[in-house]
Formats: sequence, C-alpha cells, structure tokens
Amino acid sequence: MRIHYTRQIYKDVARAINPKGKYWPFDTLFTYSFIGGSMFQRDYVRKGIQRILDEVPGLRIVEEMGDNPGLIRISFNVADGSWSYVGTDCLAVSSWLPTMNIGWYDQEEQSNVVHEWLHALNFSHEHIRGINFDKPKVYAAFKEIGWGKSEVDNNLFHYQEHHYDETPMDVDSIMKYYIPCEWTVDGENCGYQNKVLSIGDINRLREMFPDQKLKDLKAYTINNIIKKLNENT
Ligand SMILES: [Zn+2]
Repeated sequence: MRIHYTRQIYKDVARAINPKGKYWPFDTLFTYSFIGGSMFQRDYVRKGIQRILDEVPGLRIVEEMGDNPGLIRISFNVADGSWSYVGTDCLAVSSWLPTMNIGWYDQEEQSNVVHEWLHALNFSHEHIRGINFDKPKVYAAFKEIGWGKSEVDNNLFHYQEHHYDETPMDVDSIMKYYIPCEWTVDGENCGYQNKVLSIGDINRLREMFPDQKLKDLKAYTINNIIKKLNENT
C-alpha cells in the first residue's frame, strides 16, 4: 500500500474523464430553471453554480427568469438523491422534466450542486478508473442503500462500451466519490472526501470553456444546439 504524504497538485494540468460524443459547444449559454424548490433550496443551487463560475470565466450559466424551461432543469425531490444527466444527454429529456435533482444540502460547500453540474457539463465519475475495487464488497455495501448491480456498475466501474477522453486519475477531483479503502484490493487512491473543485477539474473546465468575450457569443436555443451538434458530426 502506498502512503499519501501530501495531496497531489497537478499544476496547469487538466484532469478529468469526459464521455466522447456528449460535449456541448464551447460557447453554449447554459440556462437553468427550477422545478419547485423553496427559496433556501434555490439559493443553495445558485451558490453552488457561482462556485464554478468563479473559477471558469469562459463558462456562461444564467438563470431563466421567465416561464421558459432552462436547458438544465433542477428539481428537489429529497427521496431521489442527487443526480444529473451527463452532457448533451440533457437535450433528450422532455422539457417539463428535470435534468438534475438536488436531494440533500451540505450548506458549507454546496458540493453536490458542483458535482451534479460537472456531470451536466459532461464530466464522468473520476473513480471509474484508477481504483482496483473489491467488487463484491462494493455491491454488498451499496445493496444496503438500495442500489442494484447496474446502478453500481454505472456509477463506480469503468463502462467498457462507453468511450471517454481521460487523463490519469485525479484523486482530488470533486467527481471522485469517497471510496473507503476496504472497498479496494490494494488501498490505492482510496479515501479523500472531496468537496471542492480540484486544480485538475478547474483546468479541464477552462479548456472546455475557454475565456471569451461575451458580446461575440450567441445564446443558443435548444434546437440551435441540436442543429450545431448535428453539423459537427
Ligand atoms: Zn455523480
């Protein structure tokens, strides 16, 4: 077992795992709207979004103020955990349904909002590579919270049939679950309760959404984004 003496810092290196074929155009204007939610819940989401915007000047995320549904639609079902569709998969969701759910509140860091938004921006879970899981132990642990094999496979293990752009694993990424070391066969890359964007996360976001002058950018409607994506394939 290797001992982690210090946390690794990847200076100026982007670290992430992103599904191929689900990227947004770099100049997308991400609008979002709420489906229900109290003032507290909505403000909690806004604060989480601001944490990302503070680090990524080229990224544009604005709240849809009228009755129009946003590109990203956020519900607050406490019985449904926190989740999001990944990247442009959000476009396939009917406009009256959520693309993201925020099911709990960590007031300090809004870490689940940041995590789910990175899914929406086309980030996968960091831990799906770089960890040698003791799979039977992981299935057993998640069975206790009601997750079946397919949910565990989807959220924790590398899915061979998907294709990713990936770097070596970033143990500090907010896209990495806390992995107890007893769930691994070798004690490598486990632990770490990551609650804020890592340097690797930030650098990858800045690569994907490079700083731009806002006046030059168009606000894409959902149909325009679909058209643009089709043109690029
Ligand atoms: Zn996740």
